Amino acid sequence: MGEFSQKISKVDRKELLAILHCAFAEEWLAYYQYWIGAKIAEGVERPKVEAEFIEHAEEELKHAHWLADRIIQLGEAPILDPKDWAIYAKCKYEVPDNADTKVLVAQNLAAERCAVERYQEICKMTENKDYETFRIARKILKEELEHEQEMENFEADFKYYGN
Ligand code: FE
Ligand code: FE
Repeated sequence: MGEFSQKISKVDRKELLAILHCAFAEEWLAYYQYWIGAKIAEGVERPKVEAEFIEHAEEELKHAHWLADRIIQLGEAPILDPKDWAIYAKCKYEVPDNADTKVLVAQNLAAERCAVERYQEICKMTENKDYETFRIARKILKEELEHEQEMENFEADFKYYGN
């Protein structure tokens, strides 16, 4: 499957697949971090935080789709066992054991910054060498930067509420 796709990629295949599996695992964890956060959130700006988290969760899942398709084209299966997500991911899953919107937003902001670094890394690795992976990574990077901005916007708004 994707034989030609593998041939035209000029990036070391093992190295490329390793980082794509890592990013794929991180997307699932990011998806869940937002999804569960939307369910449990309480405190200031709850309705807005909940709505934004749901939207972001859907986008993280979409990123997982794109990465899975690319991994398959490159000749491997995406991670089959959810237990492995935490093993492959380098961006930490932060257990939302405090449902305060301020805490949840701070956790997701950290995750977004890690994601931005990951896609920056993939773009750097694939630029002019693997156009399709580069295109996907750039598209995801754009959305992760938007996510980061939206979490920052919440943090700025929170200041008006004091502590
Ligand atoms: Fe994502
Ligand atoms: Fe994101």
